[in-house]
Amino acid sequence: MLQYITQGRLKCEAPTEQVFVFQTTVLNALKQFIQSESDSRESGGILIGRTDIETKAKIIESLTSPMEGDRQTRTSFFRSKSHQKALIKAWNDSEKIYNFLGLWHTHPEDIPTPSPTDLKDINTVLNGITNLHHPILYLIIGRVKTGIWISNKNTDINFLGHIELK
Ligand SMILES: [Zn+2]
Repeated sequence: MLQYITQGRLKCEAPTEQVFVFQTTVLNALKQFIQSESDSRESGGILIGRTDIETKAKIIESLTSPMEGDRQTRTSFFRSKSHQKALIKAWNDSEKIYNFLGLWHTHPEDIPTPSPTDLKDINTVLNGITNLHHPILYLIIGRVKTGIWISNKNTDINFLGHIELK
């Protein structure tokens, strides 16, 4: 279930009851990458945040966006190793509070769905992390709506819904 809550934050609840909350600053940053122009290229990055100690919700507070080494075309985005480096830096700088919570990229379609390449990408990323004990979100930002999926090691990707970024 996806819903906006106080202060324009976005709450995503998985069937497993794991809750993710997007801070408004992250939503605003993501919105800037919508491929609204006919020549705008795909963008992407990773979602970074922490676990709320009381509620155990995953709070998405930061993100990486296209950087040197990425490859961007109208219909593809290749994420370079720079994103992983940025994540490791966030993890170290925050004394291991900030962690990997998901992946995002844009599509030049109104209502986005994952391509076969996307599905392969999720698996590659999940299998590449040895110590992942929580699910991650997979966001595809379309021209009108954003699709949100959840995935975990050894489980299939699960669709949570489409929502408009406010
Ligand atoms: Zn894609």
